[in-house]
Amino acid sequence: MPVPRVGLLGGTFDPPHVGHLVVAAEVGEALALDSVRLVVANDPWQKSAERRITPVGTRFRLTMAAAATPDWESPGRNSPAVAAADVEIRLGGRTTTARTLGHLRRDEPDVDFVVILGVDAALRVPTWWDAGECLRGVTVALVDRPGAPAADIPGVINRAQRVEATQLDISSTAIRRRVADRLSIRHLVPPEVECLIDTEGLYRRDCD
Ligand code: ATP
Ligand code: MG
Repeated sequence: MPVPRVGLLGGTFDPPHVGHLVVAAEVGEALALDSVRLVVANDPWQKSAERRITPVGTRFRLTMAAAATPDWESPGRNSPAVAAADVEIRLGGRTTTARTLGHLRRDEPDVDFVVILGVDAALRVPTWWDAGECLRGVTVALVDRPGAPAADIPGVINRAQRVEATQLDISSTAIRRRVADRLSIRHLVPPEVECLIDTEGLYRRDCD
């Protein structure tokens, strides 16, 4: 039986946006992944020192709503299934990719996990806890991101695979700012996510 290949796109998802979904869909397609999991960070400790992070329960609901965007079989196309993953929430505490990957590999030894990173995130890998050890032998799919510096990819990522995906200049930071400034976020996030942001009154005060 072929080994299932599962992409992991980790993030704060505060909030999830169309940029995340396009990366998941296009990397999944390019690398023939069976599915892609949007792995919501429980406590993104490198960020929580800088700004107030939305509670993880809310970020997870937003991410489930984003992943649930109506999907249909497109004949001839190979879109992977995309789902929100709560593994880091269940593990609790400070989120590190080393702990998450270690847990997933023990829990699902028959799965070939592919870590998906935007270039901005890839450049931060050397600041991760135990980066060298946790990425040993792991395929890392790298996507460019508008505005991210074109720097050399850190050596700890030793099995990097560049994937050309549609580049969208969208970030959660920009979306939070737009909501605080009472500007439209339509089409930058899936309709279900926009609806939750509005009904729950999220991001109305800029918290950067
Ligand atoms: P913030 O502005 O709060 O940092 P973000 O938009 O960067 O949010 P994250 O949750 O930090 O979103 O990103 C998770 C992952 O998705 C990272 O690997 C990041 O590089 C990637 N990513 C996010 N947005 C894009 C995009 N528009 N294009 C390519 N990669 C993206
Ligand atoms: Mg980011």
